[in-house]
Amino acid sequence: MASSDTIFGRILRGEIPCQEVYADDHCLAFRDVNPQAPVHVLVIPREPIPQLAEATSDHQALLGHLLLVAARVARQEGLESWRTVINSGTEAGQTVFHLHLHVIGGRPMAWPPG
Ligand code: AMP
Repeated sequence: MASSDTIFGRILRGEIPCQEVYADDHCLAFRDVNPQAPVHVLVIPREPIPQLAEATSDHQALLGHLLLVAARVARQEGLESWRTVINSGTEAGQTVFHLHLHVIGGRPMAWPPG
């Protein structure tokens, strides 16, 4: 499945709604529909990269931008500590094959993750 055909592709195309918290020319950030913490935001690139495993050196600037946006969103949400997660691949827990960063915070976190 092309990642433009995922649910996140549909969100980017405005075909289904999201609770947007940040947007720019390169990415969109919106609240996770099934939050795992008081703050749970997803940051996705507009370019449909299916998973981190398929990113290339051409994406270096974009990947850096996504991390900076994750930090910006966390600050915007009032977080001083948070966790940024990228699941790459089914066994890692990835369910939507459009690259995304989870920004999770607002409660104490355990380690290691399950
Ligand atoms: P992952 O398991 O890393 O692929 O994360 C996918 C995330 O997308 C999960 O946390 C889901 O709750 C979230 N999700 C799925 N559909 C939607 C949606 N329509 N709006 C917001 N978040 C979604």
